[in-house]
Amino acid sequence: MLVGVPKEIKNQESRVGLTPASVKELVLRGHQVLVQKNAGAAIGLTDSMYEGSGASIIDTAAEIFARAEMIVKVKEPQPQECAMLREGQILYTYLHLAPDPEQTRALVKSGAVCLAYETITGANGGLPLLAPMSEVAGRMSIQAGAAHLEKSKGGMGLLLGGVPGVAPGHVAIIGAGVVGTNALQIAVGMGARVTVLDKSVDRLRQLDLVFGNRVSTMYSNAHTIEEAVLDADLVIGGVLVPGAAAPKLVTRDMISRMKKGAVVVDVAIDQGGCFETSHATTHEQPTFIVDGVVHYCVANMPGAVARTSTFALNNATIAHAVALADKGWKRALQANPHLKNGLNVCQGHVTYEAVAHGLGYPY
Ligand code: NAD
Repeated sequence: MLVGVPKEIKNQESRVGLTPASVKELVLRGHQVLVQKNAGAAIGLTDSMYEGSGASIIDTAAEIFARAEMIVKVKEPQPQECAMLREGQILYTYLHLAPDPEQTRALVKSGAVCLAYETITGANGGLPLLAPMSEVAGRMSIQAGAAHLEKSKGGMGLLLGGVPGVAPGHVAIIGAGVVGTNALQIAVGMGARVTVLDKSVDRLRQLDLVFGNRVSTMYSNAHTIEEAVLDADLVIGGVLVPGAAAPKLVTRDMISRMKKGAVVVDVAIDQGGCFETSHATTHEQPTFIVDGVVHYCVANMPGAVARTSTFALNNATIAHAVALADKGWKRALQANPHLKNGLNVCQGHVTYEAVAHGLGYPY
């Protein structure tokens, strides 16, 4: 199959659909890969590395879209990219169609076969192509939180791990899923005192087995959240209620009673956020202050570490990319119901139930 990798054009996006190692996987199986000039340059993946893996470097996205049978990307196609998609061409990328009627319309019109990373399921449940980005965001949340506890960033001037003779800071993590567990690992590693809260006692039980008395686990309710938040120096919000907006678990009143110079990192901001005082921010201006509490609410945290994120994403996407290239989309989807769950738009029809119902398409 002829596979194409255009350079990402969404604002501030430096990730790339395939790494040179992923290109090699495809080339070794007899496929041909076209990579747009400088597609990975911003994260140190040079054109010569791609050529070394067997890719051909192409000057323009237009040529890649015109020639490739499958387009592999990271972010949802922008309007000018949608306009270049062709009938029957495979598009394999994050789409997030539910809140995006305009993109959905354009993909339906294109006649392309559009597979969304975020709805592909895993054999052990969960959403394995979303998980790597939650791992990145979870680990980054402590890094970002620790940095913003510094005086120059608006924080109280606290070193999370403390020093001999000085107690460490207290990190409260709400939600013990992928984000929460990864945040927990880094916080423990930095020597912080850590409390983790979740509605799932099973999740807390698993963490207790792994971390023992290095973390305190708490069943999440209004009372325990208030107790943890008021004592914390850094609070991480990593809850998810699938298919729903994040619940506002930390109220404005709690924020007003937190320590001055404490930091909250609302990772769940892409689902509306779990702090009542949150609103989405960007990497250029990541924080704002409410009642003396620093709020970090960046909606695309993995974008800041685009190199790590690209490799992590490729680890999760390459097996399906190979299957699609080897078998063609029809046989690949027949062979794997989890990959089939990724099909959102197919040759003029919306094929993902939640998107069809949400946006008024027949299903
Ligand atoms: P997940 O499903 O693995 O974990 C969510 C956890 O929240 C579950 O353990 C669940 O039991 C728990 N939960 C639900 N309601 C709760 C409550 N009332 N109190 C305490 N815990 C509760 O999800 P995840 O992959 O960890 O993602 C978490 C959030 O982070 C999602 O909204 C996701 O979209 C977001 N995210 C944001 C970024 C970013 O850049 N900002 C990046 C990746 C993920």
